[in-house]
Amino acid sequence: MEQKITVLSRDVANRIAAGEVVERPASILKELLENAIDAGAADLVVELEQGGCKTIRITDNGEGIDGDEMALAFQRHATSKIRFIDDIDHIATYGFRGEALPSIASVARVEMISRRRGALSGNRIVLDGGKIETMAETGCPEGTSVRVTHVFDHVPARKKFLKSVSTEQAACMEVLVRVALSRPDIRMKVLSNGREILYVPHASRLSERLALILGEDAAAHMEAIEAERPDIRVSGFVTRPEYSRSNTKGYHFFVNGRFVRDALISHAVMTGYRRVIPEKRYPVAVLFIEVSPGDVDVNVHPAKTEVRFRNPRAVYDCVVQAVVSKLAVLPGGEQPSGGAAEKSAEATYHQRVEEALKRYTLVTGGNRPTFHVRQERKESAPLFDPRPADVPQEPGTEPSAGRGAAGVRFSGLAYLGQVGATYLVFTDRENLFLMDQHAAHERVLFEKIRSEAVGRETFRQNLLVPEVITLSPPEYAQFMQLAEPLGRAGFDIEPFGGNAVVLKTVPSLLANRSPREFLLDLVTDVLDGASPALPLALREKVFAVMACKGAVKANHTLSSDEVASLCLEMDKIPFNATCPHGRPVYLIYSMTDLQKLFKRT
Ligand code: ADP
Ligand code: MG
Repeated sequence: MEQKITVLSRDVANRIAAGEVVERPASILKELLENAIDAGAADLVVELEQGGCKTIRITDNGEGIDGDEMALAFQRHATSKIRFIDDIDHIATYGFRGEALPSIASVARVEMISRRRGALSGNRIVLDGGKIETMAETGCPEGTSVRVTHVFDHVPARKKFLKSVSTEQAACMEVLVRVALSRPDIRMKVLSNGREILYVPHASRLSERLALILGEDAAAHMEAIEAERPDIRVSGFVTRPEYSRSNTKGYHFFVNGRFVRDALISHAVMTGYRRVIPEKRYPVAVLFIEVSPGDVDVNVHPAKTEVRFRNPRAVYDCVVQAVVSKLAVLPGGEQPSGGAAEKSAEATYHQRVEEALKRYTLVTGGNRPTFHVRQERKESAPLFDPRPADVPQEPGTEPSAGRGAAGVRFSGLAYLGQVGATYLVFTDRENLFLMDQHAAHERVLFEKIRSEAVGRETFRQNLLVPEVITLSPPEYAQFMQLAEPLGRAGFDIEPFGGNAVVLKTVPSLLANRSPREFLLDLVTDVLDGASPALPLALREKVFAVMACKGAVKANHTLSSDEVASLCLEMDKIPFNATCPHGRPVYLIYSMTDLQKLFKRT
């Protein structure tokens, strides 16, 4: 009988392993940077072409590799960093799995040139698709240079998943930012398509780098924090509550120097900020958590961005404590209730859990809503027709045509009032209409922005003094990626040297908001999650986010006039029963629906 089980060839095994380690150019960059740092480099030059999709090259001044070990470095599980299984418990290097180089070599073409410190000459090795093509002695400076080209040429499936060049570039910049934040002692020069885009000089402490790496705005709002517990130390920088972001992209957590994504740490940070930062806003936080190497397992994930703590609870508490003890002493912050910072953190933590529980029981338990009909309701919100009588009814445009559900026209509806400062209630005497005011307004704004974006000139407003916005390197890459759709939406931005952009116009619709903050939120929101690479999709998303940010929020009491003008606007746009994010704008209950609800049928 033919044998069914065989051991995979080295090539196949490497390529499968590569799937986990090298997902995209940025992951190649990360592995190469870590190798250079593990080799004790103090200076790094990083060259990217087309966001790393074409070429990634890293030159370091580390200890280098001996000629006779060079080929070995590209073998699976070949590492100089650990020897015995127990070594895994006290790893002081980024690498230890011996997987990166063989994985990278299996999906691209790699050239490594290296000269060991003190050696007379160096060596050059070239691999393509995992196979050695050339191996020879060569003259070169001390240190190592690795050049990766033809990225994913051997794995077309993966190549297809690459996003746009600017998205991949932004991902690469994020990797560089993490290195720059965790290793102030390392100098870095970054070139993109031959042009220098980032230069980070040596620094003795992180604070000297914050402005350069996170942008001046964020850095200006940061405070140093720290806390200690037995065998745990937390330190770093967080922004004061008045500076926040719309997502957690500003979180940079390092465990024993290693960048990690960790839900536990994120949660602890948010616990620290609860009640001092609005809902769905997040600080920028650079946190270093030091634990004894035996108390954390870094070997959870092939890319090593996840860790497992032996005592997660203690780590959690220490992070909360670091955040709370600083926020509490800021002007306007909460006063520590128990004197010692540690006690205060504990107290605040328990108090916050208590509050959350209380809120929960209030919503679900005991206090049933009462049918208390307020008398003054009748006077303050009379039945009224939101469409002024003198507006012609446009007999040609038939409500049913393209207007969807039962040919809704607000002119035909009587407004009954607002519920929970969120929903508007209407009736046509037969049906009950509930309208989500935020969703409705969003829809209106979206249509407006979209239609005005076509006739570009009327839509924008020149800023008297153009505003210069200094960004972090990844933010800069993102802004440039969105320059076209932003321009269409009324924000004309241009590069302004370094990582700064200059904002020349703003959309007239939003002229009264701080353009700087608005833009930052806009860009982070648009690029949140998987960013659509198609310009048209990006454009729509920019409009949708703009509409959302400009729309009346739920929980805002609208005056009758405001309701009237909202309804008027709703009447003008092509009827579409969802907001730009796809949530419904209306719910309609017919008599039959109501009878069913009252169990009359
Ligand atoms: P790991 O980093 O897990 O050991 P890698 O596949 O990334 O595995 O690298 C294999 C080995 O090659 C390393 O252990 C190291 O000895 C050597 N090496 C890789 N990059 C460099 C570099 N830039 N400078 C010096 N040595 C390097
Ligand atoms: Mg490595």
